[in-house]
Amino acid sequence: MACSGALLVLENFIGGKFVPCSSYIDSYNPSTGDVYCKVPDSGKEEVEAAVKAAKAAFPVWSSKSPLERSQILNRLADLIEHDLEAFAQAESKDQGKTITFARTVDIPRAVYNFRFFASSILHHTTECTEMASLGCVHYTSRAPVGVAGLISPWNLPLYLLTWKIAPAIACGNTVVAKPSEMTSVTAWMMCKLLEEAGVPHGVVNVVFGTGAKAGEALVCHPDVPLISFTGSTLTAQRITEKSAPHCKRLSLELGGKNPAIIFDDADLTQCIPTTLRSSFANQGEICLCTSRIFVQRGIYSEFLKRFVAEAKKWKVGNPLDPAVDVGALISKEHLEKVRNYVKKARAEGARVLCGEGMDSLALPAGNQKGYFMLPTVIAEIKDESCCMQEEIFGPVTCVVPFDTEEEAIQRANNVKYGLAATVWSSNVGRVHRVAQRLQSGLVWTNCWLVRDLNLPFGGMKASGVGREGAKDSYEFFTEVKTITIKH
Ligand code: NAD
Repeated sequence: MACSGALLVLENFIGGKFVPCSSYIDSYNPSTGDVYCKVPDSGKEEVEAAVKAAKAAFPVWSSKSPLERSQILNRLADLIEHDLEAFAQAESKDQGKTITFARTVDIPRAVYNFRFFASSILHHTTECTEMASLGCVHYTSRAPVGVAGLISPWNLPLYLLTWKIAPAIACGNTVVAKPSEMTSVTAWMMCKLLEEAGVPHGVVNVVFGTGAKAGEALVCHPDVPLISFTGSTLTAQRITEKSAPHCKRLSLELGGKNPAIIFDDADLTQCIPTTLRSSFANQGEICLCTSRIFVQRGIYSEFLKRFVAEAKKWKVGNPLDPAVDVGALISKEHLEKVRNYVKKARAEGARVLCGEGMDSLALPAGNQKGYFMLPTVIAEIKDESCCMQEEIFGPVTCVVPFDTEEEAIQRANNVKYGLAATVWSSNVGRVHRVAQRLQSGLVWTNCWLVRDLNLPFGGMKASGVGREGAKDSYEFFTEVKTITIKH
């Protein structure tokens, strides 16, 4: 690390060393609007050096036993956990999220990602079949693929980056990771712990910079046979095009326009607080956030009244204040984009019930230039409206009534995305029926964001290609071979 005035200056991490870059990008503190950090503006040259280091480290790392790799991952988890508070403070400052969210969700999950894959890598078995009449036994063997390119977004920076690094290196690959240029600090902090954890030089390389330069150089590099990407559907289309000439293996975790279907027999005392969280947690900047709430007509008015009253209680302000529920959005441009959706909804005749343009936002003196927005609830909006079709990725949710189960399913499926859905009902039969028919990679019933990392995570339709999880990530990050032995 270097310090330029009061600015934090990050460096790439290549072959076990911090390496300065010739040019830098400004990184803002979203809660104050001030530039506070300089991020390397890497390109082909830096990516080339990182891939070279990762290639050089591959033979030794890939031939270590799963147990040796597991022990190193566990040590890294312990070191991050030891510094949890420093990581949480940094994540909150860099991303705008509340310190409470960073302390209780982001950093604990980053720690758990390493522990989880340190454990799961020890328990995989491969397949074996016998053809006794031919005197043959067939079995499969799995080997790491090589240098993995890992590209992550800004909403859950260390959480999502480690969700890729942990399985990739647990399986014996070496990696070149590129975090979002808007949230690079915690990845850089993690690099400082790699040596102490025992990660050999070159196993984890981190190249900072923009998607257009550093990201694309990684995607186009001929010696990077697989890309694991989490981000927007638009970027995924570009990555797919650019990687096609190399026939790369791709895992794409993309956007969502997630519905909640609330039937009239739902337990509203559970449903309302959970749906508030699923709409507004992390400023609505989670790919799994609910943004279309379908409520059965019999309880629509009551739900709306209680939901809006509770939404108004969410405190927006300085993310470092533990009493604050909603921090700052990631950037000025993103805040404008989210606000514009509300503007468009109004212009179409929808009713904004609270938040943007309805209530006043009182911010502390130090946060006046930050990118804040109140939780916003929109009603009387048509399914065809862009607010009901496009991913907004901010603290905005739409609430509309429905009459029948069939209608709710049809309307919930009526978007290009298919990432996550929630269903609220006390009728077990209905819950199963609806879950089966929703076009969604994840369906939560009577809860939200309860995850077992063993099971597949990922989206259908424009929400993604491939799945991540204990078995799925293992399969993605390894190459399988079928071997036949005749005796
Ligand atoms: P983004 O697509 O703009 O950027 C994601 C990453 O890709 C960044 O590191 C960026 O620098 C890089 N990138 C951009 N252009 C690139 C290119 N041409 N080649 C290679 N890399 C490139 O997404 P974002 O705005 O950072 O994140 C928000 C999006 O991520 C939302 O759509 C959200 O739903 C999605 N997301 C999905 C999941 C999931 O698991 N499905 C999780 C979190 C976020």
